[in-house]
Amino acid sequence: MSFSQMNLNPLISKAIAVCGYDKPTPVQARCIPDILEGKDLIASARTGTGKTAAFVLPALQRLSAKKPLSKPRILILTPTRELASQICKAAANYGKFLRFNIVNIVGGMSYRQQIKELPRADIIVATPGRLLDHMDNGRVDLSGIEMLIFDEADRMFDMGFIEDVQVIAKQTPKHRQTLLFSATMDEKLSQIVRHMLNNPVRIDLSAEKIAPTQIEQRIYMADHSQHKKRLFHHYMKTENIFKAIIFSATKMNADKLAYELCDMGYRAAALHGDLKQSQRNRTVDQLRHGKIQFLVATDVAARGIDIADLTHVINYDLPRFCEDYVHRIGRTGRAGKSGVAISFALPADLRHLQRIERYTNQKLQREMIAGLEPSAKQASSDGAPAAKKKHRKSGYSQASGKPAKRFKPQGNKENKRSYSRRDSRKDSRRE
Ligand code: AMP
Repeated sequence: MSFSQMNLNPLISKAIAVCGYDKPTPVQARCIPDILEGKDLIASARTGTGKTAAFVLPALQRLSAKKPLSKPRILILTPTRELASQICKAAANYGKFLRFNIVNIVGGMSYRQQIKELPRADIIVATPGRLLDHMDNGRVDLSGIEMLIFDEADRMFDMGFIEDVQVIAKQTPKHRQTLLFSATMDEKLSQIVRHMLNNPVRIDLSAEKIAPTQIEQRIYMADHSQHKKRLFHHYMKTENIFKAIIFSATKMNADKLAYELCDMGYRAAALHGDLKQSQRNRTVDQLRHGKIQFLVATDVAARGIDIADLTHVINYDLPRFCEDYVHRIGRTGRAGKSGVAISFALPADLRHLQRIERYTNQKLQREMIAGLEPSAKQASSDGAPAAKKKHRKSGYSQASGKPAKRFKPQGNKENKRSYSRRDSRKDSRRE
């Protein structure tokens, strides 16, 4: 399937050509025809596969087929501010030859500007909390919404936005078209969203959900946090990194690592929820335009960041959720490019590392750095003998080839939590 076979408005096709897209990515080829036919859809596609265009192009097509209304007609909900602003940019890009107003409604930005822009909106891209604020104050009318799109729905619900999303969906017309995109799709999420969609087409690009082959993944085992730090410093000094995001478990550590990198002479900055939104936007732009080389980020802040030339993702700390491992490494290797994802693991991380391996159905490559090898116990943590090689691949056994069981949340508090609106407000502050 080519873009020309999709019969898109010529002005949309022109914008696609200007972007340099020769042909649709698999998620676009699978989703766009069904969306153009007006069907509801649930698609599980990993981040970086071109899923934004998969829903934005048909949304623009729908807008361009009718005269403008004085109400918003498309509503896109996302879990984070960064993702929302990226979708706005993409929509402005794909719709640059059309005249539609795209309004970004996220927390941390000026109310005044949003109140001014809302009455002219054709497309609203929003995080649930701020949109509800405007709804509660009667500033936004969703009765003209023809298409409701949830992006990164898994994350949105993990962050506790479920009640907010349900309240918002109720304010939109029943006969709307509803699309749901999610990097992962499990039974629980299916149950939550079932009543919001009408007989949806299910598109499962699950093969792409798993870490794509063009991303080279490696693990460095460390005995303790000081050892991990030495490995990290060595890695940063010896690896040829063009641009990277380094993931940290905490905001404090993100600041500390960014500071250390600056101290080592690199251009680096931290990105986390304690920073003002304007500062976060500025930092992401600095990385995008090469003014900094390293971004040290927490999960929520880095969610959805699309930087085309990111060569490395470094998990200084492993993510808490297996899904986040896939999301994180999906920051590199975007749109078919290659990338490297490396992770550091402490003894306490071992069980979690095994869960990640089961979840992604692969054995992650253990590596060692000469002179900084882990203890024999830690080196053979996967039960395989500790084969030592100089800096490059130590080449432990690869995946057995047996179908691995999907990771099921192990019943920790976070996974089990019941979603409430109050939670959701808390979480939006955590951003
Ligand atoms: P997304 O998954 O929407 O974040 O997109 C990931 C990257 O793929 C973005 O940098 C897009 O500009 C790029 N992209 C989207 N569609 C295509 C396409 N059909 N051909 C080439 N690149 C694309």
